[in-house]
Amino acid sequence: MAGNKTFSMIKPDAVAEGNTGAILKMIEDAGFKIVAMKKTLLTKERAGQFYEVHKERPFYEDLRSYMSSGPIVALILEKENAVADFRKLIGATDPAKAEEGTIRKLFAKSIEANAVHGSDADETAENEGSFFFSHTERF
Ligand code: UDP
Ligand code: MG
Repeated sequence: MAGNKTFSMIKPDAVAEGNTGAILKMIEDAGFKIVAMKKTLLTKERAGQFYEVHKERPFYEDLRSYMSSGPIVALILEKENAVADFRKLIGATDPAKAEEGTIRKLFAKSIEANAVHGSDADETAENEGSFFFSHTERF
């Protein structure tokens, strides 16, 4: 993923509440192409692996439980300046601080159950995409 791709998840709260379609529509309307997409359930162990970088943080155990509490939709997205533009589209981690019109402002329940994930850098996007998708699942 050379700078023009990012990785996203629609998180369990948003999937459970039937917001998958509305969120995908916002993503496509913002100019992102869906390169890969999969609905899947993370085990607590795999959720912990995905968020390993946060393992010393106080919210880590809760986050593992939440992220394995129901299915998620994993996505690889393509657009120029994908990582930064996608972070802008989703808004701040805490929905109380997210800008109007962002996905988290519209759909997040709390700082934990915040509807969507977005990679924070090109290298992370590459690694996170590979965590979920083989090369034959990317179009
Ligand atoms: N999170 C949480 N409490 C916090 C900070 C983060 O539960 O105080 C959760 C939240 O689901 C967030 C994820 O941990 O999306 C990863 O945190 P990060 O700081 O990487 O935020 P993001 O990059 O998702 O905006
Ligand atoms: Mg992050």
